Amino acid sequence: SRKNTAGSSDQNLMVCLRIRPMNEDEINLDVPIIAHSMDGNVVILLDPLEDPDDILRANRSRERRFVFDNVFNSSCSQEEVFKLSTLPLISQVLDGYTATVFAYGATGTGKTYTMLGVNEQPGIMFKALESLFKHMRMMEDEFIYQMSLSYLEVYNEMIRDLLGSNSVYLDLREDQNGVQVAGLTEIDVNTTNEVMDLLNRGNAMRTVEATGANKHSSRSHAVLQVNVVSRPRIRNTQEQILKGKLFLIDLAGSERASNTLNRGKRLTEGAHINRSLLALGNCINALSDPNGKRYVNYRDSKLTRLLKDALGGNCRTVMIAHIGPSALHFEDSRNTLVYADRAK
Ligand code: ADP
Ligand code: MG
Repeated sequence: SRKNTAGSSDQNLMVCLRIRPMNEDEINLDVPIIAHSMDGNVVILLDPLEDPDDILRANRSRERRFVFDNVFNSSCSQEEVFKLSTLPLISQVLDGYTATVFAYGATGTGKTYTMLGVNEQPGIMFKALESLFKHMRMMEDEFIYQMSLSYLEVYNEMIRDLLGSNSVYLDLREDQNGVQVAGLTEIDVNTTNEVMDLLNRGNAMRTVEATGANKHSSRSHAVLQVNVVSRPRIRNTQEQILKGKLFLIDLAGSERASNTLNRGKRLTEGAHINRSLLALGNCINALSDPNGKRYVNYRDSKLTRLLKDALGGNCRTVMIAHIGPSALHFEDSRNTLVYADRAK
């Protein structure tokens, strides 16, 4: 029988926060910085309408100070973020467990930077795959591994294959093997170069459209699913095939539909996005309940239905919430901190 290395339920959820660096606009406009990190796990958000000296002296009220498992400040490298958030999941996935990493936050806060990264600074998706390959090479005397990827987006409560050759909407099915996306493309990968090619291909397929908030605002949730099958080389009576899964998810922007100049179609998208982020928050929140008695309604959104098997049991979940550092984004930052705090 398998050892329970995934730990008890209260250790199965980790909530981190990443604060992106000031961007050029914020520097040029000399916008004050309002998000300050301390001790690697605390963030203080100053209300730009109040006198900062006042807050720091006496009125440091509780809702402005948040504690998370890790707070990554604007000088944290991609490597540090990966090591402290996702690396601990890698050996678990090879041992047959399921793990999920979410990037949450408003548009422009660095979700895609964290998950996908940029060419010179690859993100968690690349580093996780690189690390899985490395671990597999170390263990190849004992195990035969097979790794495959699928990549999809949930847009307007519909599922699109990002690696398929034709753009059709796919159905979710539930059978004895759990939740399946019918007809989803699954591609075997053996090298990090192959992974890079697939990620680039998938990202080119993502739905991006202009909104009032950001002309390249991402209105979809992107879900990279990594499947790892391991078989022991030496056959014995206890031989078992382990099937681990890693979900790496770049969530849609969490900003409110009302914050953007949304009309018509965009507004509906906003409603769907908020619905699935709300459902996700509720599911994660229920997981962190030490009594485990809270009712979890996975059926509330496509995203939570898709992740039903990955949000619960012995699965590990990491939420990386993202905020900007400056006074320009106080509302979004506060909303994100409250959401992430509630998920704990
Ligand atoms: P989101 O996906 O949340 O909308 P992005 O990841 O696209 O946000 O980030 C917005 C911009 O800020 C991008 O140009 C990105 O490269 C940059 N950026 C975000 N986070 C960082 C970071 N930690 N270091 C350097 N640049 C960053
Ligand atoms: Mg993005």
